[in-house]
Amino acid sequence: MAAPDSNAVIAALRAAVLGRQGNIPLHEPWFIGNEWGYVKDCLDTGWVSSAGKYVDRFEASLSGYTGARHAIAVVNGTAALHICLKLAGVQPGDEVLIPALTFIATANAVSYCGATPHFVDSAYATLGLDPAKLYDYLADIAEVRGGMCVNRKSGATIRAVVPMHTFGHPVEIESLLEVAGGFRLEVVEDAAESLGSVYKGRHTGTFGKVSALSFNGNKVITTGGGGAVLTNDDHLAKHAKHLTTTARLPHQWSFIHDEVGYNYRLPNINAALGCAQIEQLSEFVRRKRELAAAYRNAFFGVSGLVFFTEPAGACSNYWLNALMLDQASTGCRDGLLDAFNAHGIMARPVWSLMHRLPMYQNCPRMPLEVAEDLERRLINIPSSPFLVATP
Ligand SMILES: *Cc1c(COP(=O)(O)O)cnc(C)c1O
Repeated sequence: MAAPDSNAVIAALRAAVLGRQGNIPLHEPWFIGNEWGYVKDCLDTGWVSSAGKYVDRFEASLSGYTGARHAIAVVNGTAALHICLKLAGVQPGDEVLIPALTFIATANAVSYCGATPHFVDSAYATLGLDPAKLYDYLADIAEVRGGMCVNRKSGATIRAVVPMHTFGHPVEIESLLEVAGGFRLEVVEDAAESLGSVYKGRHTGTFGKVSALSFNGNKVITTGGGGAVLTNDDHLAKHAKHLTTTARLPHQWSFIHDEVGYNYRLPNINAALGCAQIEQLSEFVRRKRELAAAYRNAFFGVSGLVFFTEPAGACSNYWLNALMLDQASTGCRDGLLDAFNAHGIMARPVWSLMHRLPMYQNCPRMPLEVAEDLERRLINIPSSPFLVATP
């Protein structure tokens, strides 16, 4: 197999985005709906902060779109993950299984709970957590004792597993739920990248006990900064709202708080942006899927790499498009990244794997050969929904 020729790769990319010249950012927000109107309404009425109608409305829209019974809007995706882990019962001293190939927020949220991230390998087909490999690993190092999963080596309780739907592509969530059930692990989905992605007809973020979404500026829809907790459990939803609003007991004028809560509530002005953005979510996802199809065609004839496509059984939002270098071409990654960026095309490698970072290098982990291979081979390319012009 020939190594990829950077001129051919760049020509293919420009062809897919209809010959668009000049700088192409990786992912930009797009405000073409009711954003101005809703934000202006907040300013006109003075309802910009911690109360107002847009928070409730945004939560109802999220719940309606995903099919989750409840959505609780919060300040960002990391805060959503933090609350999800607390709701799943993660306690100081626990271990939480997370993929080594993820954005730092997944690991940090575990740390905020006083728990230790325990790194798990990925699958080639999904880029996410590999349930079969996880099963073999847990069978080897863990046992169920008193209804809990215990790491035989560290003696710690392994409380939960956090699958992350990488670049929007759903993990094999049904198999994972089975493995988690067998080992008495709670499942918390990190669906920060996958709003609008569906696995066997069901939205990601509705499989776990609780799930986290993000509306950061580079995500499928944005509220500036923002996130949400999704759950089908009425009791957990109530507790999520309580925890994220300083755990204050409802009362007209007194300030009584019954546990250590957090000031994680999404401001009304951000929720207003979210209400306008979610009205366009289906269209954004349609366009992103169309862009992915154009990339797939354009890169078909380019040697040395493939365009990564959604796994079987899934309908992905293609949040971030990715090229995967052939095994023989891994040495070309940085040269290609230089060439892209020199041509104004923003491309980047996948995140540094969590176990390479100084604060996480001594955390427990299984052999991570697939994640390490993917790290050398993946390149993210421009993915904004406006890159395809369609009627
Ligand atoms: C974006 C993201 C988050 C949350 O990020 P925030 O910037 O805090 O909203 C969490 N996990 C993953 C995998 C993400 O990509």
